Amino acid sequence: MKPFMKTETKAVHSGDRKKNPDAPGAFVPSSTPIYTATTYLYDETAKLDRVLGREEAGFCYGRYDNPTRTGLEELLTELECGHSAQVCCSGMMALHLALLAALTDRRKSVLASNALYGSTTTLLTQVLEPLGVSIDFVDTCDTAAVEQKIAETKPGCIVMETISNPLLRVGDLDRIAELARVAGAALIVDNTFATPLLVRPLEHGANFSVHSLTKFLAGHGDVLGGVVVTDEAHSDVTRALSRTMGPVLGPFESFLSMRGIKTFALRVERQCANACRIATWLRSHPRVERVHYLADPKHPDAAVIRRLLPEGLYGALVPFELKDATKEDVFRFMDKLKLVLRGTSLGDVHSLLLYPAMASHREIAPKQRRRMGIGDGLVRFCAGIEAVDDIIADLDQALG
Ligand code: PLP
Repeated sequence: MKPFMKTETKAVHSGDRKKNPDAPGAFVPSSTPIYTATTYLYDETAKLDRVLGREEAGFCYGRYDNPTRTGLEELLTELECGHSAQVCCSGMMALHLALLAALTDRRKSVLASNALYGSTTTLLTQVLEPLGVSIDFVDTCDTAAVEQKIAETKPGCIVMETISNPLLRVGDLDRIAELARVAGAALIVDNTFATPLLVRPLEHGANFSVHSLTKFLAGHGDVLGGVVVTDEAHSDVTRALSRTMGPVLGPFESFLSMRGIKTFALRVERQCANACRIATWLRSHPRVERVHYLADPKHPDAAVIRRLLPEGLYGALVPFELKDATKEDVFRFMDKLKLVLRGTSLGDVHSLLLYPAMASHREIAPKQRRRMGIGDGLVRFCAGIEAVDDIIADLDQALG
């Protein structure tokens, strides 16, 4: 695929259509087939030897490579403008792989955003920290604080999200990438909320762009997966770790992800448009105290958002706060929803609504949670691709 092609075009064409020269007619399938074989055979042992030694391209064993998975990896590499990609069985596994790859040749010290997805924080504090990795947190929307913490903690790696959950804060990716580069730290960016249609972190100087494929990319609520896309410098180490650890995505899930990704740009555009209409409608609703939305000119990170995100594509998420609401009030509102699904995921074709105090921020003491800006009345809404009038009608009757 040509590097100048746009994301929407790459999503449809990249990774597919590998010629099978030995098949009758040497056909080219229009989409990537599901290869379930774990072992691949060659006429000559010498060829198998060369493939195993990576002197020649080919497949030999499912943990190392699989043609369906490789198609998906090529697709994701092109979408993220990276050097290579490793797809994993979940977003969390992808984050784990990226952290191990980033820390391989560096100080075992991580500087992390203080607004990461809950399980990512748990991975750092309950898996890596007990193994001897030192973990520090910082507000990645405060670039001066990041600079100071880098000087203090000398991290081997920095971890942040393009758009934070659930309050949609956006750090200055370009500045932080530059600070990381100067300090010799690797920068890992979880790009799940933005998708490569909105932001491609490697183009801003990040070394790793990680996704939960489970969300917008696969997009249909039927596959769990993740990916680590890397720059050239981190390709070999990430691939080598993946080959040894075997965190790989299976062929069926790889196929489903590829199929989902073909329409991801179309879906995300529609989701962004729906979110924009819903944010405007919610703002004038008497039961709504506050709406968090990236296009808001009063957003605390408005200047960075204007620089980072394309005009008109401000994401599908619209967290909002119900006025003077207790947990019981929020649950009553949620129970009345008939179309919007009450679920813990996001980025699917269907609209989803979640109560962060019950899910992603469940383990955090209420006082600390409120200090973080996640009050008892906050719900996280993620727009699906339904007719926007139907979504608004459902929210309206549930709020009413
Ligand atoms: N990163 C973000 C921003 C997420 O929201 C999630 C899951 O909700 C993950 C990573 C983990 O992804 P998975 O559930 O596919 O492991």
